Amino acid sequence: MAFIKFLGTAGARYVVARQLRASGGVYIEDQGTRLILDPGPGTLVYMAREKLRVEKLSGLVISHVHLDHAADLNVLVDALTEGGLKKRGRVFLPREGLYGENAVLLPYLRPYLEDIEILGPQKTYQVGSISFRTSVRHHHPVETYGVIFDLSGVRVGFMVDTLYFPGLLSSYEGCDFLVLNVVRYKPHPSPQVQHLCVAHVKEILERLKPRQAILTHFGMTMIRAHPKQVAQRLARETGVPVVAAWDGMELEL
Ligand SMILES: [Zn+2]
Repeated sequence: MAFIKFLGTAGARYVVARQLRASGGVYIEDQGTRLILDPGPGTLVYMAREKLRVEKLSGLVISHVHLDHAADLNVLVDALTEGGLKKRGRVFLPREGLYGENAVLLPYLRPYLEDIEILGPQKTYQVGSISFRTSVRHHHPVETYGVIFDLSGVRVGFMVDTLYFPGLLSSYEGCDFLVLNVVRYKPHPSPQVQHLCVAHVKEILERLKPRQAILTHFGMTMIRAHPKQVAQRLARETGVPVVAAWDGMELEL
């Protein structure tokens, strides 16, 4: 049985900085293959607390290089490879995570890994028993892709940070579970801040109609609006079952 655990549900600066919610990534396990998606600050600590063994991970998937998605990448690579003693683990990340000014994977750690794969738009990847594909490129200040996992036939989409735009939805059609990073309660006045807000999530759910929607990655305006209440209202308005994730929430698929 596939299993998902939210090691954190914080999004954006303030909630992460104050740790109003934890900022670990999402732990995904299926038939002995174990992944972390977007290891934000504290992922290593939360994993230890939850007794999840880092050295058992098969891979790490980074949707984009922002710190709340990639801060613990290096420490996890070090732990997973036992400081380079064991060559293992695979890292998947956008090209800019590897080359250029925004490179987030330290060069000395790279040879420790079994493999490093570059994420591009709408491509399929395989790690152990888990396959996943990327979405179209999101509208976000850095190169960003959503990830749609196939976990023993159950499709779980992670619509990570993005501004809503017309071409976004096609990548997420047919998801059984849809996880949405809802940073904003209302749209941000600045076009530079590219995140989903509740009104757009409503539109997304009405059009995609997943079996279950999960809200996460909350910024301050969402925390103030009480994510659980927002989820209940969205469920009423769209007819889609919606839950607001909490730190440590587990999903058995
Ligand atoms: Zn981001």
